Amino acid sequence: MHILKTPREAFAKLDRLRREGVRLGLVPTMGALHVGHLSLVEQAQRLADQTVVSIFVNPTQFGPNEDFSRYPRTFQEDVERLESLGVEWLFAPTEQSLYPPGFSCCVQPPAVAQPLEGEFRPGHYGGVATVCMKLFQIIPAEVAVFGRKDYQQVRVIEQMVEDLNLPIRIVVGPTIREADGLAMSSRNRYLSDSQRQQALGLWRALQVVAEMAADGQRQVSDLERAMLSTLEASQVTKIDYARVVDARTLAPIESLDRPAVALIAAFVGQTRLIDCLLLEAD
Ligand code: AMP
Repeated sequence: MHILKTPREAFAKLDRLRREGVRLGLVPTMGALHVGHLSLVEQAQRLADQTVVSIFVNPTQFGPNEDFSRYPRTFQEDVERLESLGVEWLFAPTEQSLYPPGFSCCVQPPAVAQPLEGEFRPGHYGGVATVCMKLFQIIPAEVAVFGRKDYQQVRVIEQMVEDLNLPIRIVVGPTIREADGLAMSSRNRYLSDSQRQQALGLWRALQVVAEMAADGQRQVSDLERAMLSTLEASQVTKIDYARVVDARTLAPIESLDRPAVALIAAFVGQTRLIDCLLLEAD
């Protein structure tokens, strides 16, 4: 696996490949790789001739009181895991090379960034959109693969690609879960054993909503109440949101009369977890 350290080197090498007709697939990550990340890598490998994984803990998407400085960094293990999958390229820029002194230009994210995470993590999606725009410029990939788990992030990126006519295809991979349902996340390693049990409350709450929807319950206020009480029964009490919203716009809905998504963000101890589940319309 070739490790590319600067935008200049990455663009020079990868754009030459692109001009030779090699189709590149990109998987952006912040490292601390787990099986969820690797599933996206395997999907990219199926969709393209060569795969580029990026690892960059992007400072501009973290708020001032968030976990940027203690975010898990496991670079050597990540390299080994990617090598064992046969990944050709790793783009792992330094912060200095991606945001040199004087950097000031940013992407204003689309409207779909405003609710939910946008309310609780102001500035987060501006940072995400900006770093993804930079990655899409540096790495001339035909396709980029993102995980469904970060549902709103996917909608932000899809909408940015559409609104700004970016020549890249966005593909979404399913959420990969532990055997008991907990969505895999780099942040799960912050959890103690008892917190790990509490964290299952997010999955339980999503399951309750899925069962209610399958039973024909359509009233979103009932579904949201059931999510909150399931979270609380699992001792998850610091809840940023537990909502059922329009799957495309993420706007509030009253009834399950269109594709919808249930989204949860909640704290277990100091660790903020998110999870989601798509709900079928009638
Ligand atoms: P991150 O390193 O957390 O920024 O995530 C990098 C990519 O992996 C994003 O597209 C995430 O949505 C995706 N991802 C994270 N966790 C999972 C998971 N459990 N299943 C599938 N994709 C995931």
